[in-house]
Amino acid sequence: MSLEPCRACGHQVDTSALACPGCGATDPAKRISRQQHNARVFVIQLIVCLSLLGFGGWYVWSTLVPVIKQFIAKPQAEQTQAGQQ
Ligand SMILES: [Zn+2]
Repeated sequence: MSLEPCRACGHQVDTSALACPGCGATDPAKRISRQQHNARVFVIQLIVCLSLLGFGGWYVWSTLVPVIKQFIAKPQAEQTQAGQQ
């Protein structure tokens, strides 16, 4: 038995109450659990986004770096060949 402020009118209502006695709003104490639910969803989305960013970053890194190295290595190889002649 604990009291929470109603999400609609702020009236102190029991967490197990189905309706607020002050304004009649249904599940007056649901706001807390909804915030916790939103926080959980936010954390899950954050983890998914971070893992996607990490995987995407790793994929781009492992795909682009060899290509960039080839681009950088080619002119240098030509330069050394030209310098030897
Ligand atoms: Zn209320």
